[in-house]
Amino acid sequence: MKKTAFFISILFLTFNTIHSQKKNSKPNFIIIFTDDLGYGDLGTYGNPSILTPNLDKLASEGQKWTNFYVAANVCTPSRAALLTGRLPVRIGMESDTRRVLFPNSAGGLPESETTIAELLKSASYQTAAIGKWHLGHLEPHTPLNNGFDYYYGIPYSNDMDRDEKIPYLKLLDPDYKIESKDFNVPLIRNREIIERPADQTTITKRYTEESVAFIKKNKDKPFFLYLAHSMPHIPLFSSKDFVGKSKGGKYGDVIEELDWSVGQIIKTLKEQKLDENTYVIFTSDNGPWKIFKEQGGSSGTLYGAKGTSYEGGTRVPFIIWSPKNLKPKVETKIGSTLDLLPTLGSLAGIKLSENLKTDGYDLSPVLKGQTSNPRNEMFFYHGTKLFAARLGDYKLYYYKNDPSGYPEKLEKLEKLQLFNLAIDPSETNNIIDKKPDVAAQIQEVVSKHLATVVPVKNNLDDVVKK
Ligand code: MG
Repeated sequence: MKKTAFFISILFLTFNTIHSQKKNSKPNFIIIFTDDLGYGDLGTYGNPSILTPNLDKLASEGQKWTNFYVAANVCTPSRAALLTGRLPVRIGMESDTRRVLFPNSAGGLPESETTIAELLKSASYQTAAIGKWHLGHLEPHTPLNNGFDYYYGIPYSNDMDRDEKIPYLKLLDPDYKIESKDFNVPLIRNREIIERPADQTTITKRYTEESVAFIKKNKDKPFFLYLAHSMPHIPLFSSKDFVGKSKGGKYGDVIEELDWSVGQIIKTLKEQKLDENTYVIFTSDNGPWKIFKEQGGSSGTLYGAKGTSYEGGTRVPFIIWSPKNLKPKVETKIGSTLDLLPTLGSLAGIKLSENLKTDGYDLSPVLKGQTSNPRNEMFFYHGTKLFAARLGDYKLYYYKNDPSGYPEKLEKLEKLQLFNLAIDPSETNNIIDKKPDVAAQIQEVVSKHLATVVPVKNNLDDVVKK
């Protein structure tokens, strides 16, 4: 009898080991991508009023990067860069006239581009995009055309399809009572509109519920979840449990609900015993929309806002958490959303095709503790113009615009400006006269880079003909 029990327990152990190995063979990935959340909006990045205990914990158990950039200062090109690892200017996703896609846009992300979802699908991952898409709402630009098995969310920004009786400038008035129904934005499941206008007061909550359901459904298969929250983009809405709760006002309410959402996802991973084999990334698509004053976020110590290529418009919070795989640290090296495709590909053990040319670097050795960094430069485009470039600690500017991002007009600098971001992250001391050699070195790197940028067809300017 004892012998039988022994064999049964051995059999059980063997089955469990095989099962968990199978489960652990490829890591899961979750990218949480917020909209217009600034560098200074989280407790862990220094916000003194808004409480973000779940993100603070994620940062202390994981890696918090302090020099991490998006590749564009507005929504559409930034999203294109994250999903493809390519500078938007190379793939027709930057424009000097229509900087993002609109409800009457005809174009979107070219089908020929490889997205992270497509890359991971090639290794049998289950994929979902939940939240704001903003890479084209017509065929063949939708999430289902771009490697995602499942989609639930809004196709473009939450301030679009606005009731024309409401002047846009009314949105700037924090006392004006904006309602969700003032924006006829559709909520889509896969290819079907399931609600219009989307009730934005519960949208963060519903994205979270959808995410939790997707994780549970795929607990035995490798999965990639791209959760692109539509908040805290204006107009701001939060569900009733969060309204009026934050010391940070209406904007704080929204951020605290996003933090709650992160907590729900981590809780689900732990309950499903997936926390050891999942990488969770939290970041934002661009800096805060400061023209909205108290309804907009904070770039902390950084200069500039959404719509600018200053640090405040492009440097974003970036947290990566996977306690079993990554040692906690604060990382000051340069990283970018451009690097996510090669990095996730590497972590999943996928060899990238030689035909797949990206502007990204595989940061996985840095995540695992390598001291040198493959990325030493960052190019900052505003539309199709190179606004600035960073090399090491130094950033050289070719253009300037209003640090609030409005008006959008760019001004070409007659004399270039140079800043040392390591000792002057707020960009207050122009040192071009003191460091002409550094400026010359950056200009050389820029010339080489520009020689590789071939003009392509623009996908943002075409509108649907009536
Ligand atoms: Mg945005």
